[in-house]
Amino acid sequence: MAPPAAHCPDCHHPIRWTRTEAGRRLAVDPDPDPAGNAAVWRDGTGTLRSRRPSADLPLTGWERLHLPHIATCPARRKQLALPVGVTRLDDHRKNRRTTR
Ligand SMILES: [Zn+2]
Repeated sequence: MAPPAAHCPDCHHPIRWTRTEAGRRLAVDPDPDPAGNAAVWRDGTGTLRSRRPSADLPLTGWERLHLPHIATCPARRKQLALPVGVTRLDDHRKNRRTTR
């Protein structure tokens, strides 16, 4: 029953491929995360499916919340220079202040 192992082409972390309601493929982190916004379940043919829970269609008992891998991928984070770059800028400022 274990899903086939898949890995992110960018960071090589394990991922799970799901199929969205629009028929697109969405990579999610393999472990459920309550902060996730993708409701993932396995349909009758064994395919992992995902959708975005809404007020009309909230999370059901057989779905688990997962984070889309795109939100946690360290390779992608590096490309976008998000929190890591911000921290580095702060360090620069601190250093400048102490040398003054
Ligand atoms: Zn990745």
